[in-house]
Amino acid sequence: MSSTDTAVRHCVFPGCRTDAQSTPGSAAPLCRRHLDLARHHGWSCRRLGDGYLWSSPLGREQLVRV
Ligand SMILES: [Zn+2]
Repeated sequence: MSSTDTAVRHCVFPGCRTDAQSTPGSAAPLCRRHLDLARHHGWSCRRLGDGYLWSSPLGREQLVRV
């Protein structure tokens, strides 16, 4: 086990711990279901500090630490 490997391998959607699908570049690691949610249902997320800040379609924000 490598202590330098900090890559996130699980989905970073709030409350989800499913294994993430492979994601290109800087995109957040997400499972297939939440990739779909982010692409087509108005959810967005961006990297913030040591986590990801999600914005729901209704504008509610939630920080998910990883
Ligand atoms: Zn998920």
